[in-house]
Amino acid sequence: KLYNQVQDLKGSIRVYCRVRPFLSGVSNCLSTVDHIEDGNIIINTPARHGNGRKSFSFNKVFGPSATQADVFSDMHPLIRSVLDGYNVCIFAYGQTGSGKTYTMSGPRELTEKSQGVNFRALGDLFFIADQRKDIFRYDVSVQMIEIYNEQVRDLLVTDGSNKRLEIRNSSQTGLNVPDANLVPVSSTSDVIDLMNLGHRNRVVGATALNDRSSRSHSCLTVHVQGRDLTSGAILRGCMHLVDLAGSERVDKSEVTGDRLKEAQHINKSLSALGDVIASLAQKNPHVPYRNSKLTQLLQDSLGGQAKTLMFVHISPEPDAVGETISTLKFAERVA
Ligand code: ADP
Ligand code: MG
Repeated sequence: KLYNQVQDLKGSIRVYCRVRPFLSGVSNCLSTVDHIEDGNIIINTPARHGNGRKSFSFNKVFGPSATQADVFSDMHPLIRSVLDGYNVCIFAYGQTGSGKTYTMSGPRELTEKSQGVNFRALGDLFFIADQRKDIFRYDVSVQMIEIYNEQVRDLLVTDGSNKRLEIRNSSQTGLNVPDANLVPVSSTSDVIDLMNLGHRNRVVGATALNDRSSRSHSCLTVHVQGRDLTSGAILRGCMHLVDLAGSERVDKSEVTGDRLKEAQHINKSLSALGDVIASLAQKNPHVPYRNSKLTQLLQDSLGGQAKTLMFVHISPEPDAVGETISTLKFAERVA
């Protein structure tokens, strides 16, 4: 029995690496990435990082020419499992400007082709639910929250209210943030409207790297309830789609006050996430979920029967190589 559980756990955490292309206007042909070979990415390291090459291995590596469709292409089984009653977590990790929001949502000017994982996942969910409509009746609803400075806020508010929310572990309903708006959705266009609302409500702080950069984690949670039309049995699954705050380390000598506090909270929660995923990957019996709001929120969706996919993002620019290496090291620890 135990052996089987361990086997199940194995492979339930997958890590994909994505390299974004150089941005238009930047005609720098020297990339930090030397080459990509199957699941390996080989980085050129400059002198201050020990001149040479470093190789990192992942379940998959997507190069700069990978499209949104390529990135989503083998995620169908993951989405299907939500409709089968499993919990799924999909994360985007990386420094600000590395492409997290691009992967999860898409670029600012969204087209159907450039839609990110969130839209595609919901589209898939509705598609599969429709295929099963003679067997199951599915109800889908979403919540969207933000964790900023270890405080949880509802992003699906229309009145600008800014109430702090509590995280509770309510395995009965599967609603870990019971006071956040829970909005029923029945089509991808419903979801697009809600995500636009959520994005407008998100705390955005300008940094030198990216004016859209976010100093908060945002989490779109999709709750699925399916009723077996013959037996009446109910199954519940949920999927968390998480666009994490930028992982870059800030120089403590350069930031003070609110920015320093933000940086410390981000640092704390990303390391707590790394610790949780690493202890799951190592099959450690003690998993330290309690160390941050983020890991408390996701507790029932990390480990056990849940499935986790982390996208780690890196920028190709040589001047980002320090962050790129620390991102890859973080990711290798959880892979
Ligand atoms: P982050 O959310 O990690 O701060 P963004 O997703 O905002 O980074 O990406 C930074 C910029 O790079 C944006 O202008 C975005 O549209 C662009 N970008 C990111 N990834 C890609 C990609 N794979 N292809 C094309 N443009 C990308
Ligand atoms: Mg972003």
